[in-house]
Amino acid sequence: MSKPVIWTVDDDPDVLRAVERDMRRHYGDRYRVMSLDSGIAALEATKQLKLRNEPVALFLVDQRMPGMSGVEFLEKSIELYPDAKRALLTAYADIDAAIRAINNAHIDHYLMKPWDPPEERLYGVVDDMLDDWQASYHPAFQGVRVVGHQWSPYSTEIRDFLGRNFVPHEWLNIETDESAKQLLKTLGVESTSLPIVVFPDGEFLTKPPVAEVARKLGLRTKAEFPFYDLVVVGAGPSGLAAAVYGAADGLHTLLIEREAPGGQAGRSSRIENYLGFPTGLSGNDLARRAVAQARRFGVEILAPQAVTGVRVEGSTRVLKLSDGGEVGCRAVIIASGISFRKLDVPGLDRLSGSGVYYYAPMSQAFSYRDGNIYIVGGANSAGQAAMYFSKFARHVTILVRGRALSDSMSQYLEDEIAATKNIEVRLNSVVTVVEGKEHCESITIQNNETNATEKAPATALLIYAGAVPHTDWLAGVVERDSQGYVISGQHLMLEGKRPAGWTIGRDPFYLETSVPGIFAVGDVRHRSAKGVTSGVGEGAMAVKLVHQYLGLVQ
Ligand SMILES: Cc1cc2nc3c(=O)[nH]c(=O)nc-3n(C[C@H](O)[C@H](O)[C@H](O)COP(=O)(O)OP(=O)(O)OC[C@H]3O[C@@H](n4cnc5c(N)ncnc54)[C@H](O)[C@@H]3O)c2cc1C
Repeated sequence: MSKPVIWTVDDDPDVLRAVERDMRRHYGDRYRVMSLDSGIAALEATKQLKLRNEPVALFLVDQRMPGMSGVEFLEKSIELYPDAKRALLTAYADIDAAIRAINNAHIDHYLMKPWDPPEERLYGVVDDMLDDWQASYHPAFQGVRVVGHQWSPYSTEIRDFLGRNFVPHEWLNIETDESAKQLLKTLGVESTSLPIVVFPDGEFLTKPPVAEVARKLGLRTKAEFPFYDLVVVGAGPSGLAAAVYGAADGLHTLLIEREAPGGQAGRSSRIENYLGFPTGLSGNDLARRAVAQARRFGVEILAPQAVTGVRVEGSTRVLKLSDGGEVGCRAVIIASGISFRKLDVPGLDRLSGSGVYYYAPMSQAFSYRDGNIYIVGGANSAGQAAMYFSKFARHVTILVRGRALSDSMSQYLEDEIAATKNIEVRLNSVVTVVEGKEHCESITIQNNETNATEKAPATALLIYAGAVPHTDWLAGVVERDSQGYVISGQHLMLEGKRPAGWTIGRDPFYLETSVPGIFAVGDVRHRSAKGVTSGVGEGAMAVKLVHQYLGLVQ
């Protein structure tokens, strides 16, 4: 945290040197004393401080300066730092002007030149002003700031990206936050350019793609080496586990993630069935801990960076990356998981990100305070979302297409839902229309037994309606089932025969795919158990199989 600034501004070099020296001597341990010889230059420098969100405690400014008088400077500085204390340095002849400034321009004090000895004529007054300022000073946030419209999908994407990459940031809503408006003015940016991301060094980007934000933040997207023992694709729970155990077992390991570590689990508000956490833990917490552990064991993590293809060159597996780069390795673990099935409903795409979300980020929950939320889906993820959002929303309705909550919803969750007063479950119900001008305002619900429809006001529609595996990048190389899940182990053996193109004299290992040395773990795998615990278990097990594979090919 940087020290609060005391500004001294005077066009007379001797006076400026003297005031700067006296202020540094007395306040230098607690404040940063800055000096300039013109109001115009000082105002520009103050704007830069504002962009970096650095605190200013006091302006001590000469009244008579060419270009911009002290009073003019102080009036302008109010816009940037309304809470800073303001004092004029005046000669005897200017006392009347100084008193007028106190009355008209909300200046706190005037100080007469010369002020010797400062112990008697300077520090007492300045101490009072600084004590006053300290009493109401709240240290400003000094990380990344995002300014935007609450319902803008752009803003949501950037906030979600920062949150999931564990980048501390402050959200400033342009509709409700005065400091957001002020910041925009300081930056000279129109509200049509929102969202903007302001970095701790004062630089900012308007409407940036997340890759640009990642670059500016220095997130690593390029591999340090051309070749690794093991590359893990996807940093959900399975991939994180594979990377941690791979590196812990001495393999030179690269983990590649196209969005942010955590995968689907990173969106889970509370994972209650993970061993060792009797009161549950949030997916974000689990991911944060796993990333720390991975780094400690020396895993290199690239994010955001996607793998777009794979090929085999003898004993080397080569992965193509979305930036056109390539990386080679001895073994690959596919942990690319699944994403969510989209609903084909009029109005839904247009409002996606503006009150309509697939697997909504938890960061949105506060926005729905006292709202009326609809959740589509009958499995665990929908149930968990209902429980979480019910803490903020006035009412939560779960819309289930079938006659009951899904078989895949755990009994404990069904019991919790039944015991929560502001959650209602509507069976045989589907959404047929979503409406709203700028964000979701209402939905139409159809009962699929009676065909009756009903239009209901809705603050948000959150969709948890099934999944599609992320395996396009494996097409033509690794065998997949009809839905795109990666087939492994005994499922590859048809009537006792090894898969087509299998070149080595043994059957595929349990988690091995149709290509020797390429393994699949977690939700992406055909007939996997799905879930955090099994994914983590498979990640660990795959590393043992990688060792067996490497032992055999060496
Ligand atoms: C809201 C919610 C709540 C849940 N709650 C629970 C729970 O309480 N208990 C439980 O056991 N399970 C829960 N689940 C399910 C659980 O999160 C998943 O089973 C688990 O995350 C699967 O882990 P995974 O690593 O196999 O895949 P994923 O978590 O899907 O991770 C895959 C990762 O791979 C990345 N990726 C994909 N393609 C590429 C590519 N080409 N290049 C690079 N990276 C790529 C993705 O961005 C993603 O981060 C929940 C899921 C959701 C959505």
